Amino acid sequence: MAKEVIGVCKICDNKRKLSKEHIPPSAAFNAGEYKAQTIDEHKTKDVNVWRTSKKQGGHFAYVLCVECNNRTGQWYGGEYKKLAGACAPFANPSNAGKVVSIEVPKLFPLRVFKQALTIMCGTSHDEMSDEWTGTMSPAAADLGIAKPDKDISLATKAMPLIREFILDKEANGLPAPFQLYAYLVINPAGRETGIVKMFSRSTGASALFAEFAWWPLGWVLVFDGDIKDDLFSTTGWSQYEYDEEVPLTLRLPCYWLESKMPLDFRSPMEMAESRARNQLILDAGCG
Ligand SMILES: [Zn+2]
Repeated sequence: MAKEVIGVCKICDNKRKLSKEHIPPSAAFNAGEYKAQTIDEHKTKDVNVWRTSKKQGGHFAYVLCVECNNRTGQWYGGEYKKLAGACAPFANPSNAGKVVSIEVPKLFPLRVFKQALTIMCGTSHDEMSDEWTGTMSPAAADLGIAKPDKDISLATKAMPLIREFILDKEANGLPAPFQLYAYLVINPAGRETGIVKMFSRSTGASALFAEFAWWPLGWVLVFDGDIKDDLFSTTGWSQYEYDEEVPLTLRLPCYWLESKMPLDFRSPMEMAESRARNQLILDAGCG
C-alpha cells in the first residue's frame, strides 16, 4: 500500500495528503539508483565527514500535495524533460571548465522556468536550512559559507510570490526580485542546499540563494547579492507566454559536482588535495 503522508504543501501552503514527488521529474534522468550523501554528525567535528548510502527509484520527497504535483507535472514537467534531454549529450567530464552552446530548436521557456522554480520550492524552506549548521566547521569557514547573522527576509518575502506564480500557469514576468541561473553538471551527481548565505572573506560581500542540481542540470536561485561564479542567466525566460515556443541557444558553463557545499565546483583532484590538507590540519590538532 502506498505510504500516506499528511503535511503542508510547499506550493499551495495547504495541509493535505502529500504525494511522492520526484525532484527533478523522473523523466529527467531521475528514476534509477543513486548515491545519497549526508553529513555524518557522529563523526563530524572539525572536518565534515560525509556518509554515502545507495537509494533506488530516483530522488524523491513528500513535499507537494497531489493536486500541485499533478498540475506542475502536466504544465511544466514535459518541457523540463525536453531541456534535460538536449543537455545530456554535453554533460560529461570532457567538457570540464568549458562553456558549451546548446541549440534547442523548440522550447517553451516559461514552462521550464516554472518547473525549475517548482524544484527550488520543493527543496527550500522559508527559513534557513538546518542541514548547513553542520558545515560550520573550520573547513566551511574557509570556503566562506555561514548561517546568516542577518535576517533572510528577502527570501521569505519572495517565496510566497514565487509559489503563487507557479500556481498560475499563464502568469509571466518576475513576481519578485530574484535571478535564476543554470549550469551543466558533468558527473552523475546532485545536491540541494536549501536557502543559504555565502560571504566573501576578502570583500565581505554576501549572497542569499538556494541551489539545486541533478545531472545534467544545476539551478541557482539568487535572492540578493552577487555570486562570483560564471552561470547562465535564465531570468529572462519568465517574460515568455505560457504558449510561446521559441528556438533557444543556451551557453552553459560545465562544472564538476563533487562537493556538497553550495556553489563549490571543485574537481575530484582539487577535492582530494583539499581533503589531504584537512587531514594535515586534523593530524596537527591531535599531535
Ligand atoms: Zn499543493
